[in-house]
Amino acid sequence: MNVYIVIDMEGVAGVTHGSMIRTGHVEWRDRGTRLMTAEANAAIEGAFLGGASSVLVKDGHDSGQNIRREDLDPRAELVTGNSVTVGLMPGLDSTFDKLFLMGFHAKMGTRFAQFDHTISTATINNLSINNIVVGEIGMYGMLAGLRGVSVALTTGDGPAVDESLDLFGAHQGVRVKQGLGRFAVRTFNPAQVLTQITEGAKNAMDNGAPPLEISLPVTISIDFLRSAEADMAEMVPGSLRSSARTVQYVHEDPDTAFQALQAMVALAGIAASRWASGLYKSGDSVV
Ligand SMILES: [Zn+2]
Repeated sequence: MNVYIVIDMEGVAGVTHGSMIRTGHVEWRDRGTRLMTAEANAAIEGAFLGGASSVLVKDGHDSGQNIRREDLDPRAELVTGNSVTVGLMPGLDSTFDKLFLMGFHAKMGTRFAQFDHTISTATINNLSINNIVVGEIGMYGMLAGLRGVSVALTTGDGPAVDESLDLFGAHQGVRVKQGLGRFAVRTFNPAQVLTQITEGAKNAMDNGAPPLEISLPVTISIDFLRSAEADMAEMVPGSLRSSARTVQYVHEDPDTAFQALQAMVALAGIAASRWASGLYKSGDSVV
């Protein structure tokens, strides 16, 4: 059995504040990357104990350059980087059997969830796929389902694990911490959760939710924070501007639809970074 792991960073045990997930920050370099890699290794161990024949890990946080390559279990292969051209889960095809979603946070707007967001805190208020409001967990799991791959393990903040179980059905879930609010969390000991993750990964090899089937065409709808971001996203050919802040994209080919999703998010990010840099501001008149 072939296992694909997507691992994010916000939902890793012991990741307690923003500096630990910020690329380049000393807290990220010395602590965040180490904790994230340890959780990946715990799952890789469990997968092989459960009979996996191969494990491919996608570094799924920010620029995809977080996993400490030299410390990763050598039995696994690693995909790093982040590019629209290679898609959300490079290499994931129907030869894979199980998807592990690790280190995840809940979708934007979830209460009592640490770092709740959907793809980008700076641009996205709400994302739906085929009229189901989803976060990143839903996005990855739905895409895997279209390839016939089931979600078998979810680890992360408690509300993120609940989100995954609600959407995909019964499978192995390991809650490594519990958000108290967006910027507050009660975390289990990072070393202690590794045993649970290994156990969950091992058990996941024998069971998991059936692949989530979604109907075609795929309808993506993104509600942005500001109309300026929707203005940018609307430049994707074939998109539909359904309201000032909402852009939709409908396509029979799921890969095209998901690629459009990535393109819209990337374009919206340009508007957001212009805003953040002060380009759109006019001194004190901004309130
Ligand atoms: Zn992340």
